[in-house]
Amino acid sequence: MGHHHKPKQSYPSRCHECWLHTDYCLCGILPRLWSPLKIVIIRHVSERYRSSNTGRVLGAMLENCVLLDLGDKHSPFPADRLLEFPESQVLYPSPKASRLTPQTPVPFSRDTCRTLIVLDATWRQARRISRRVPSVASLPFVTLPSGPPSSWPLRSSPTPDSLCTLEAVGRAFDALGFHQESLLIDQGMRTARERLLRMRGLSNHSSLESCP
Ligand SMILES: [Zn+2]
Repeated sequence: MGHHHKPKQSYPSRCHECWLHTDYCLCGILPRLWSPLKIVIIRHVSERYRSSNTGRVLGAMLENCVLLDLGDKHSPFPADRLLEFPESQVLYPSPKASRLTPQTPVPFSRDTCRTLIVLDATWRQARRISRRVPSVASLPFVTLPSGPPSSWPLRSSPTPDSLCTLEAVGRAFDALGFHQESLLIDQGMRTARERLLRMRGLSNHSSLESCP
């Protein structure tokens, strides 16, 4: 869980961008796109070196994306950066969240949501961030319409419809009517999944709960 803040010395051959073994490096094979919304990824620092992390994959795909680390003892969370994005909303299923659809009234419509903030962490960490980080907790929250279960098999999640960061952003694009971008995100997710499963010597979705 949250205790591996340092790269593991036992993986000297990992790519330091995507954190996969160099033989399976994702860099250069993911689709690249210009996101229709500014995406700000708030990543818990414990995700930084986990190959199963999809915030990093998302960051590698989106040209206009900001990645902020939270929880690093040595560098405090740059909460001021969030002020650069005045019309921002947090994608997290909190009780106060509005459902994201192209029809939802302002200020939650496609035309007014300029920045989507995504929490890239374990569910437990994300819940804590959504409640206890004032610069995040004070923002409006949005959640996704119900949809198919997660197809990212590499992380345990509280319920089957708990999505990984990459899937959540793809679904958000879809809900807001950005279908082409949603398809590209999905394509990138499948590419990353295939590489990661092969790296772990697995060809299917079974027994993947114990990930580094
Ligand atoms: Zn790489």
